[in-house]
Amino acid sequence: MKQINKFQVKSIKKGTIIDHIPIKMGIKLLSLFELNNSSQNIIIGLNLPSVLIGYKDLIKINNTFINQDQVNQLAVYTPDATVNYIEEYKVISKITPSLPDFVKNIIICPNDNCISRSELKFSKFRIISKNKLSKYLKCIYCEREFARHLMSIK
Ligand SMILES: [Zn+2]
Repeated sequence: MKQINKFQVKSIKKGTIIDHIPIKMGIKLLSLFELNNSSQNIIIGLNLPSVLIGYKDLIKINNTFINQDQVNQLAVYTPDATVNYIEEYKVISKITPSLPDFVKNIIICPNDNCISRSELKFSKFRIISKNKLSKYLKCIYCEREFARHLMSIK
């Protein structure tokens, strides 16, 4: 237990900590938020032991506060993630993602014939069920509905 805390508490002076990310999602979130192109100092923890969810990923972004819209996009993948804003090594606020109305450009439409795949190279879905366990999204281009767990991330 002590070991776990030591690693996780080692903090950043100012910025964002995204915690309780399901394993294998950490890397995906980096590209989702284009953090792989960021010049900021970023610390990623993969497969860390977690009391809450068994194992988790963790991302610390120095000098950057991700905005509410980005936090909400997080909810599509990681509804149980927590986002902490840090100032002077202290948590100044904690945000739990809530599902946005629309998800833009991060999920691929499962419909092979959808114009969003062939021509637009851009996707947009409306979230039609906000139940965490059974999320359904509707493509605004082909108007088909899909269960979230059947969809892949760009
Ligand atoms: Zn579509």
